[in-house]
Amino acid sequence: MLQQPIVPSAFPPGRPVEGRRRREGPARPGGGGETAEADKPKTGGGKGGAKKRQVFSREDLYSPAGSKSRARKRKAPTRKGGKTMVTTPAAHKRIVKIDETISVGELGRELGVKANELIAKLIQMGSMATINSQIDRDTAGILAAEYEYEVRDVSFDEDEVLSGPLEEEELAEDPDAEPRAPVVTIMGHVDHGKTTLLDRIRKAKVAQGEAGGITQHIGAYRVPVGDNFVVFLDTPGHQAFTAMRARGAQVTDVVVLVVAADDGAMPQTVEAINHAKAAGVPIVVAINKIDKAGADTDRVKHELTKYSLIPEEWGGDTLFVPVSALTGKGVDSLLESLALQTEILELKANPKKPGFGHVVESRIDKGRGPVATVLVEEGTLRRGDFVVAGASFGRVRAMLDEHGKQLKEAGPSTPVEVLGLDGVPPAGEGFHVVANEKDAKRVVEMRTQKEKEKEAKAGARQAPADLLAAMGAKATETLHVILKTDVHGSLEAVRTAVEQLGTAEVSVRVIHSGVGAITESDVMLAEASSARVVGFNVGPDNNAKRLATQSGIDIRSYTVIYELIDAVKGMMGGLLAPELVENALGRAEVRAVFRVSKSGTIAGSYVLDGKVARNAQARIMREGKLVHRGKLVGLKRFKDDVREVASGYECGISVEGYDDVAVGDIVEVFEIKEVQRSIG
Ligand code: GDP
Ligand code: MG
Repeated sequence: MLQQPIVPSAFPPGRPVEGRRRREGPARPGGGGETAEADKPKTGGGKGGAKKRQVFSREDLYSPAGSKSRARKRKAPTRKGGKTMVTTPAAHKRIVKIDETISVGELGRELGVKANELIAKLIQMGSMATINSQIDRDTAGILAAEYEYEVRDVSFDEDEVLSGPLEEEELAEDPDAEPRAPVVTIMGHVDHGKTTLLDRIRKAKVAQGEAGGITQHIGAYRVPVGDNFVVFLDTPGHQAFTAMRARGAQVTDVVVLVVAADDGAMPQTVEAINHAKAAGVPIVVAINKIDKAGADTDRVKHELTKYSLIPEEWGGDTLFVPVSALTGKGVDSLLESLALQTEILELKANPKKPGFGHVVESRIDKGRGPVATVLVEEGTLRRGDFVVAGASFGRVRAMLDEHGKQLKEAGPSTPVEVLGLDGVPPAGEGFHVVANEKDAKRVVEMRTQKEKEKEAKAGARQAPADLLAAMGAKATETLHVILKTDVHGSLEAVRTAVEQLGTAEVSVRVIHSGVGAITESDVMLAEASSARVVGFNVGPDNNAKRLATQSGIDIRSYTVIYELIDAVKGMMGGLLAPELVENALGRAEVRAVFRVSKSGTIAGSYVLDGKVARNAQARIMREGKLVHRGKLVGLKRFKDDVREVASGYECGISVEGYDDVAVGDIVEVFEIKEVQRSIG
């Protein structure tokens, strides 16, 4: 029968989705900002359950006559109020395609009947439904049968039009598979030389091969090593690595773990090892700063044995390469060991397939529009290809490499800037070549539809809080955050994590974010917009510090993401109005009423349970109904004023502003406590 809970859609049918949204992203402010985690249905087994409830019944998505049915849809709203014309299609066409659920409104359109008619039938069947309620396929089947329609279970399988990476076994069998270059991410503790090493490699190797060197940062670059290449992702650190992985993008083949020879294994070294291991990605250790006086490569090797990274000469299988990112010493042999990984890991790809890869970076370029850096992993991406990435699609108008050089095609393990998408897909999103524009649109429409449904569901769950807010019971607060991080990769990861903290009562808006130290202008912006400044792996520079002290702006820096998250939660909690909690103290029964001219009416009472206390709050209940609420201003034992009377004793009670107390009334005594709330 009806799927519970009934989910009203936040979007009326036909309304375009506003903005592009990350596939597993949070509901954005405006929707109240519940986290994606919280959006998972309680029943139906989490992800699987959510997936099953998606509705892909839009004929234009699946039927070959897509354009026709879209035209029909566009006309639909013009029939408003008028009599619906029902033209009965031929029997073989009377099919409604439904995945798991369909909204009543949508089913009405599919059947060519008014939603109200269906709602009436549903109510007869014992289900309270609205036009936006999602009904399951079986229920839809019963309704459809009444109109001589059949329900067909379909779901558009995007895998049919999207080619993905080949499984290892498939690659082994594939006669077209060829060796491909390894893709490397650099990780390690802060200040151990990740950025310096990336810069060194880029300058020394890439500039050497190409006149002018790298003209722009595109998020990844290829380095020639002998006859081979090594691809470096330009965003070091395990946050970026893990953020990509969280979106299902594991593009890294090898992790280079940078460990400073004068410092050894540090907390983030260990974190990086754990992240690489969790991903099952092999580690090559670069022992850096060997030019320094205190450098001790053996100590580093020894320390890392604790984490099962054992050098070959000690019987293990981890490569350790001593380098100096500063002088360039050892960098060539590091590159050679990395190039060797193609053979060691038997990295292969089939360049003859349609292109497939992941988005590494994306942005809107003022002159060129959306620009996405894509790492081609399988197949070949060509100029003119139709492509899909997340909720964006387009035709590759131009492809540029890291030197700004135009490419006609890009094979496996090639990072390229792609122009021609209609939006900016987030880093980590899959990137697929599709056969034609129609397929591209189908995939994007389906994804957009899924996203809409997800938002509708999130919206439904937030309704009670929204209602309270609308009634003025609780105002929605917004925590403004200015976020600075050391690198682009962590910026995106941290911002996402922070924005996902939003709840129905407090939303979080990152009003400005960037890479680099916290500057004077950040502090000025914070002051202007009542924002908090949070740094991840970066602190304020001197000018910023001075200005912050003067203007009382709070700046906080963290090096561990969980601590940063906790701190932001604390800031959010601070914005919440304290909760007023009633704490019951006791109850007394009125047994006699005395009128005393001086102090008004005194209720001679017997304390039934708990205690009564002077200056507490009191509710006078008569036959279960509230007759008065006020402060308990007088409390006497015999002639004496007392502060408290315990249960089992008699006392005289006077309640502020109330003289009409009667025998048999119950006085409920309680206090109000303010409890500062926190974000869970
Ligand atoms: P990251 O935080 O890991 O990216 O580290 P950076 O690349 O920013 O380097 C931190 C500091 O160490 C900078 O001052 C670098 O100049 C210095 N550094 C990096 N590599 C070397 C090296 O091989 N030798 C020496 N002496 N200093 C280095
Ligand atoms: Mg750095």
